[in-house]
Amino acid sequence: MSIIANRPLHALGVCDQVAALDAGEVSSVELTQHCLDRIKQHDGSLNSLICSDASAALAAAAAADANRQSGDSAPLTGVPLVHKDIFCTIELPTTCGSRMLESYVSPYEASVVSRLASAGMVTLGKANMDEFAMGSSNENSFFGAVENPWKRTAVPGGSSGGSAALVAARLAPAATATDTGGSIRQPAAFCGVTGIKPTYGRVSRYGMIAFASSFDQGGVIAASADDCAAVLHAMSGHDPRDATSSPEDVPDWPGALAKGGGLSGLRIGVPEEFFADGLDEGVAVAVRAGLAEMEASGATLVPISLAKQSLGISAYYIVAPAEASSNLSRFDGVRFGHRCDNPVDLADLYERSRAEGFGAEVQRRILIGAYVLSAGFYDAYYKKAQQVRQLIASEFDEAFQSVDLIAGPTTPTVAFDRGAKSDDPVSMYLNDLYTVSANLCGLPALSMPCGFDQDLPVGLQLIGRAFDEERLLRAANHFQQITDWHTRMPEVA
Ligand code: GLN
Repeated sequence: MSIIANRPLHALGVCDQVAALDAGEVSSVELTQHCLDRIKQHDGSLNSLICSDASAALAAAAAADANRQSGDSAPLTGVPLVHKDIFCTIELPTTCGSRMLESYVSPYEASVVSRLASAGMVTLGKANMDEFAMGSSNENSFFGAVENPWKRTAVPGGSSGGSAALVAARLAPAATATDTGGSIRQPAAFCGVTGIKPTYGRVSRYGMIAFASSFDQGGVIAASADDCAAVLHAMSGHDPRDATSSPEDVPDWPGALAKGGGLSGLRIGVPEEFFADGLDEGVAVAVRAGLAEMEASGATLVPISLAKQSLGISAYYIVAPAEASSNLSRFDGVRFGHRCDNPVDLADLYERSRAEGFGAEVQRRILIGAYVLSAGFYDAYYKKAQQVRQLIASEFDEAFQSVDLIAGPTTPTVAFDRGAKSDDPVSMYLNDLYTVSANLCGLPALSMPCGFDQDLPVGLQLIGRAFDEERLLRAANHFQQITDWHTRMPEVA
């Protein structure tokens, strides 16, 4: 039976593309050309990519086809993808969405990029993002806002807004992304696609530009959980070049999903705090309907309480800026990136290069970070936030004694309009209400589409025990076998 059947090539996800390539129904050059055509046709308005290189992509695709012909292929040989522009690449510039790195070309490559290239994937280009991954709407990119393909006046979420928007618009079957406080899951939710942030340490941070190093984690956005599993498997694993990379073995997630299996016996904790004040009614309805589907498939829904959950935002927005203020001190106008014209002395060089190179939100984070780390305020803010982080982690540990997964909404609302929150940082930060806890505790978490509210996609979040991505992926994969939300595609005219 034909894999492609009557479907357009962009309706094929990662696994379908592999199957079609294996069956000889299509070549990597054809798949890659199809993506490049769609990028050309639709990305002018979406603005989901910062750069692409058609000839390099086609050359890589031709090499992939040749490797397949000679029987020398890896699991994903010939499947195209886009990298979030936070991952260093040698052939393409790496801007991190910032004027600071506007024309920066890295002398080395991120481990994620090398691993996916070794797995045979073809790089199409680099995805737009909030500057230095700080934001929840992609409005903080130096390269302009990204449109949500479901509603052109709405934001795609952030910081991996380009990755989510381009997968939703089917410009590529998958994109890499990063998640420090929700930046994979929140844009995946806003754009109606699936995104997974694995356990901290699962994916190497080598060559991934640092925002808040104790939270930052690479992952993937694709249409479905099985597509995410395939790409995540190829990018995970120990890397001696990242001191926080975990030595844990990477299970065969694609193999586990292929075995199938329902949800019977699965205990899903549903925290009451995830459905409290601040959650839009339409989002709650869609998420509860999704949970009911899982229950009908044999899962047991267990009401739980995570009382410390509400402290997550405050703790995150102290510790993450603190780490950012330290990480971003390297951008001094001397070693990397933007340098101001005609500095009068060294202090002027530092000050003007940073004032010109960093946008407003990045400057705000650096100021907050420097403040909470300063001698007079360290105990009151930074130290206390780290203690809260511990409390939240203990609460999760306790919850996971009696449940296998925790579920709820990914975001309190569906995608909002551009400009609606840009003058109010605190209301922007509240987007991350349900996502930051997993980052504070390093836990794996996934968002998958579970319905619509006001004609915009709603995301259902699953959080798992550390290193238990398999259970997340299996639950999501099963959900996607009994529902079709993940197959819905926006009209991109
Ligand atoms: N929205 C959050 C922030 O602005 C999370 C960003 C991220 O995960 N990179 O910090």
